Amino acid sequence: MGGMATGRPPSVARLIRAADLGGAYDHTAGVAVAREVIAGERARLARGSATRPLEALAAELADRLEGFASAGLVPVVNASGVILHTNLGRAPWSTAAIRAAAEAASGYSLLELDRATGRRGPRFRQAEDHLVALTGADDALVVNNNAAAVALAAGIAGRRAGVAVARGELVEIGGGVRIPEVIARAGLRLVEVGTTNRTRLTDYQEVLADGRARLVLRVHASNFRMEGFVERPEAAELAELTHRHGAPLVDDLGSGALLDTARFGLAHEPMPRESVAAGIDLVCFSGDKLLGGPQAGLIAGRRELVAKLRRDPLARAMRADKATLAALAATLGAYRAGRAVEELPVWRMIAESEVSVRARAEAVLAGLPEPLPGGAVARLAETRATVGGGSLPGETLPSWAVALRGVSAERLATALRAGEPAILGRIERDALLLDLRTVTDEEAAALPDALTAALWEIGTGPDPRRRR
Ligand SMILES: *Cc1c(COP(=O)(O)O)cnc(C)c1O
Repeated sequence: MGGMATGRPPSVARLIRAADLGGAYDHTAGVAVAREVIAGERARLARGSATRPLEALAAELADRLEGFASAGLVPVVNASGVILHTNLGRAPWSTAAIRAAAEAASGYSLLELDRATGRRGPRFRQAEDHLVALTGADDALVVNNNAAAVALAAGIAGRRAGVAVARGELVEIGGGVRIPEVIARAGLRLVEVGTTNRTRLTDYQEVLADGRARLVLRVHASNFRMEGFVERPEAAELAELTHRHGAPLVDDLGSGALLDTARFGLAHEPMPRESVAAGIDLVCFSGDKLLGGPQAGLIAGRRELVAKLRRDPLARAMRADKATLAALAATLGAYRAGRAVEELPVWRMIAESEVSVRARAEAVLAGLPEPLPGGAVARLAETRATVGGGSLPGETLPSWAVALRGVSAERLATALRAGEPAILGRIERDALLLDLRTVTDEEAAALPDALTAALWEIGTGPDPRRRR
């Protein structure tokens, strides 16, 4: 390469002419991107690189424009064995949820219009109606995520009011977000009660009786486990105490399982229905964790309190988009139809038998060439998958993986992430594991080729079968 070494990038007009965009793109957009390409070339030349031919720069311009017009997120095959992986976008949606969101996005809908009167009506509330039926609460409200739900719900204490939280529940949710900070940002005062390991009813009573706290917030320790000399009041007795002092009790459940996780050999994850039955006034949980739907914050609880939240200007600032509401309604509909395990990928992955996961791992293994490039060795490996996403800490599900040894696990992991499709595995004791519990059959079918290509990439150069 090197081309005609003019030592200077082409003009914008010359580059656009060379790219021959044929009217597919607006001229102004073409000029803006051409300037970026030229700036990049100028920077390269300043670093002493050789001039690239005009055709290469023109191709870059066309590629960039096309990329902008078609860009989305980079899909990844999740072979990490973590079902709810926050960095991978948590729950994959059900087919019905995907269809409902696409329909909502692709046209107009009766989102906030009363069909009978032709006037403005309540915002589409099918998801909220499902929540009422599924939790036993009087009413429900959907906002953008659970952190927003907690801030909004705790806000009913009133501006600058004290919110009592047990010291053992002042958790960091993830991504550096901490409950004390959420409370402070909501304009409330945190009133810490009890000790790290033990909080008694009398600790709450003290701050409620002298008016320091006007609301009690319980936070589920969703991503860690406390064992040993620990104590915490039952939800029902705390509700009774809180109500006696005229204060509301709010529960942040984090995940909010709508099915009993104990059915699948896991520990019991607290369920919104149980909180409501115990007398908790407002229960907050996520839409995209164990619930298995879109990112959302769900609040279920007492009629007058939910009505108050709905009128809060902050609720408007946190309101969910129509595609989210449609996907959420379809997701919750699967629970009401008694088909959550069949239809929601999260529960399907949790419920899948070990035998079936093993068969998928064996199929991947059988699809690999023998011998593998670069001296790599692949074997079937028994392993444990996790639920993740701030639920069931320390709990695992039996799983099967394809384990790769004989090459650098780090380098292989990097090559797999950079591949097409991108694949995320997990490294355990110098082996790279591809856990098949979190991989669909369709994705598994693409694994042997992608894995072989990655092994060529880190060993002897690019896969000769895949000329790029
Ligand atoms: C995950 C989690 C949240 C935050 O939920 P998002 O939907 O991610 O905003 C809040 N509280 C607890 C206990 C959680 O586990």
